[in-house]
Amino acid sequence: MAIQIRSRKKTKKVDFMQFLSGVPARDYVFQRIPYEEQIEQAEKLLREADAVLIGAGAGLSTAAGLSYGGKRFTDNFGEFIEKYGTAMTDMYSAGFYPFPTEEAKWGYWSKHVCLNRIRPDGLPLYRTVYELVREKPHFVLTTNVDHQFWKTGFADEEIFATQGDYGEIQCARGCHDKVYDAVGLFLEMDQAREDCKIPSSMVPKCPVCGGNMAMHLRCDQYFVEEEHWHEAASRYADFLKEHRKEHVVLLELGVGFNTPTIIRFPFEKMVGENERWSLIRLNLDEAVVPDSFGGRAVGINEDIARSIQDIKSSMDADRYGKGADCDE
Ligand SMILES: [Zn+2]
Repeated sequence: MAIQIRSRKKTKKVDFMQFLSGVPARDYVFQRIPYEEQIEQAEKLLREADAVLIGAGAGLSTAAGLSYGGKRFTDNFGEFIEKYGTAMTDMYSAGFYPFPTEEAKWGYWSKHVCLNRIRPDGLPLYRTVYELVREKPHFVLTTNVDHQFWKTGFADEEIFATQGDYGEIQCARGCHDKVYDAVGLFLEMDQAREDCKIPSSMVPKCPVCGGNMAMHLRCDQYFVEEEHWHEAASRYADFLKEHRKEHVVLLELGVGFNTPTIIRFPFEKMVGENERWSLIRLNLDEAVVPDSFGGRAVGINEDIARSIQDIKSSMDADRYGKGADCDE
């Protein structure tokens, strides 16, 4: 096995570095078989799987509708763009803006969190992903922090969100291993914001050291891996162990080369080392797969919303007979 985790009895803590064990494949190819055949191949792998491990990155949420740039950004952040200028190009880079004060920092983040984490209901694309795997043992490893898996049917015990959650805050210096639910606070900030800033009285302070608080996002060395994070890491390790001798499909959704060491490379390594495991890689433009995997890999270079729906339709047609997907 690529990943070896010590028994939970010995220690509850799982070192995240143990997951960063992947080595990128050197024989990447864009598969040249027709799109329809790729969909059929992916559907067959999923249908025959004993278990499914989902790996989800930013591309999945973008395809689901939570795009961080373009009109969605300019429509919602007009006053921020006016105030801070050209550094505000999209919601991803805006999160790294050096806000001059805590009032300005939380003025921005409360808006960002309400828009991307609190207000959106479970999105149809995520719901379809859930429909695809709900009847089989499944687990989600994700770098997404927008909470969509929780909103679309997946149980907390089936999700390991490695990079944090927009709904939580922590001590900016990580002085203690605890995170705080801030959904209510963000909603209040959203109401109270004026001139892109929140009132000083709403600025959160660390209950232990009295210092500043920060988003619970892995963006520096102070990211807090609290008890729930370690429990999720343990459950992920348990899932890999429990199903290692079965036919497992690794369904990778929208994982690019931003942080490939968390999902993309480890997935390739695990499939490379286990001949019963296979890889379905759905990506708008980075769906190259290792050539050496042969029929155990399908890489579909297409809008994920389209390919997931087509896989679902193919599965329904297979299950209920042709025409089942026409009458809704
Ligand atoms: Zn502190």
